[in-house]
Amino acid sequence: MTTSELVGTGEQAVVDALRAAVRGAVIGRGDPGYDEARRVWNGLIDRRPAVIARCAGTADVVEAVRVARAHRPVVSVRGGGHQVAGSAVCDDGLVIDLSGMRGVHVDPVARTVRAQAGATWADVDRATQLFGLVTPGGEVSRTGIAGFTLGGGMGVLQRRYGLACDNLRSVEIVTADGAVRTASREEHSDLFWAARGGGRGLGVVTSFELDLHPLGPVVRKALVFYPYDQARTVARGCATSPRSCRTRSRPSSSCGASRRTRRSRPGCTAPRSSSSEACTRATRRTRNRCWRRSPSWAPR
Ligand SMILES: Cc1cc2nc3c(=O)[nH]c(=O)nc-3n(C[C@H](O)[C@H](O)[C@H](O)COP(=O)(O)OP(=O)(O)OC[C@H]3O[C@@H](n4cnc5c(N)ncnc54)[C@H](O)[C@@H]3O)c2cc1C
Repeated sequence: MTTSELVGTGEQAVVDALRAAVRGAVIGRGDPGYDEARRVWNGLIDRRPAVIARCAGTADVVEAVRVARAHRPVVSVRGGGHQVAGSAVCDDGLVIDLSGMRGVHVDPVARTVRAQAGATWADVDRATQLFGLVTPGGEVSRTGIAGFTLGGGMGVLQRRYGLACDNLRSVEIVTADGAVRTASREEHSDLFWAARGGGRGLGVVTSFELDLHPLGPVVRKALVFYPYDQARTVARGCATSPRSCRTRSRPSSSCGASRRTRRSRPGCTAPRSSSSEACTRATRRTRNRCWRRSPSWAPR
């Protein structure tokens, strides 16, 4: 069945099948809350799915996947709904929406957290910080952990604890055959490999198990800006400073200046005629040196 066939009677069949099988809300085009349910973080996205299955748990996800197998609509998967292109919603198809699945369980002894795939970083941080623990998340707390972790996940703690995907221990995933699988280094390791950064389209992840590290509850953060002509001194200082003092040394993409401005700056190492790419090379060299000096600093 194609997307266009789904619109009309086919669409109603999908809605009916979901209503019969799914415990969470099933929201069709005419239902109250439809416009709210199809909205994502990027307000420019205006897609109109045929139906949104707001799953209440893994069993609902399995049922939604089974309905998708039987009726073959276009399917999109929604975690936190923060992806800028709005890939969490589709036109005329089925949205498997996990935004209601936000449970978080912390095991402070094993130093792991298990979070459902609709959780945001705010949900996870709130629970882990009760124990003074953290897993490296995003810079914005409303971002969903699902798309973030499956896409790799870079955040403010990456220099200390790596990317989100470096801290992934396992995922529970509903694959396209409707089976619930655990993927980890030991089980379905190929699936796990793909979930650590390249993980879209593998299935629907229902929960993530992540490593925890000590941090907080009081965290200090400062953004320090130096004049451009001190860039070399600052970069050298970063390279030799104690680990605890290291910052995200990013002299504004090297210099962040236009070619015209750069020419007048005495500290700039780029040749006069070079592109901005050449100008960033000096900083990249310094950064690479930092990583070589302290391999534990680099993402695992
Ligand atoms: C304000 C803002 C700040 C951001 N900050 C950062 C940042 O600091 N670091 C960083 O690395 N990225 C950042 N991002 C990018 C963000 O990580 C990605 O957009 C990510 O996809 C958002 O996750 P989500 O669950 O909210 O995505 P959604 O929009 O819900 O989903 C995006 C896609 O991920 C896949 N997906 C989502 N959930 C699942 C699931 N359960 N199972 C299988 N596939 C799924 C689907 O293919 C879906 O189309 C930011 C984005 C925004 C808008």
